[in-house]
Amino acid sequence: MIPVSRPQQPSVVLKRNAAKWLANLQTAIAHLQTVKANPSATKDEIAKAVKNVENATNKYRHKEIKDLLEQIFHGKCAYCESKVTTTGYGDIEHFCPKGNSRCIHLTFEWSNLLLSCERCNDAGHKGTQFPLAPSGKPLLIDPTDGVTDINKHLKFSWDDVDGATVVGLDARGKAVEQIFDLNSICGTRKELIKHRTNYVRQTLSVLKIALETGNSQAIALLLEHCQPSSEYSAFARIHVLPFLAHHFQIPEAMVLLKEFSKQSPEYATFVRIDQFPE
Ligand SMILES: [Zn+2]
Repeated sequence: MIPVSRPQQPSVVLKRNAAKWLANLQTAIAHLQTVKANPSATKDEIAKAVKNVENATNKYRHKEIKDLLEQIFHGKCAYCESKVTTTGYGDIEHFCPKGNSRCIHLTFEWSNLLLSCERCNDAGHKGTQFPLAPSGKPLLIDPTDGVTDINKHLKFSWDDVDGATVVGLDARGKAVEQIFDLNSICGTRKELIKHRTNYVRQTLSVLKIALETGNSQAIALLLEHCQPSSEYSAFARIHVLPFLAHHFQIPEAMVLLKEFSKQSPEYATFVRIDQFPE
């Protein structure tokens, strides 16, 4: 997971329709409740009312909204940083779940929409789960909120035995790690850790070549792996970018290091940003 900048303005279609869609959804929900409360309602009448709620809800699945989210998230899942095209076509995900009665008013709210892979979003993972801290704030992390220091809650770890793992460092990090099952080697996410570990292993092999030979193509490839558009770039930020900035003193790497440090004080300390001139 990496921080993602979200444009303040929603897609045109959302700006134009969100209020109308929400009013229609609330009407459909009220109608369903009325039908369900009627003892003489037939199965068909209930099914029709349920379908109306589904149709009213699904307005958010507009191509323009999906396209914009794919652009903002570089086609990657907000939570596991996999390219959504690796696992399918990706979902428009509601941070505060649309299936949670407390969040219905956020069904068409731009700031509540993320891009995620089908697996992170499915009923076996996030689904309608939205755990809260005792303070009432969400435990899960919205990478677009602009305030959460992701590196304070999650450690993007590498070792030869466990491979590339995402380790929760506190209650929020542990909620992310557990709900999305980010390190399962035998469960439903084994393909994720296998793919992620192979990807990071290859990146680190290229780093070894770069450190031994100074090969410019290897360095260029490493810099690409540190960009927000690359899969699992949270690992390259930690395990590769400091070498490019400190050891090779690549100007683009220094720019990236400073940019990422502004998003995360924890990261700034880790990469010793104070050693670079302003
Ligand atoms: Zn995912």
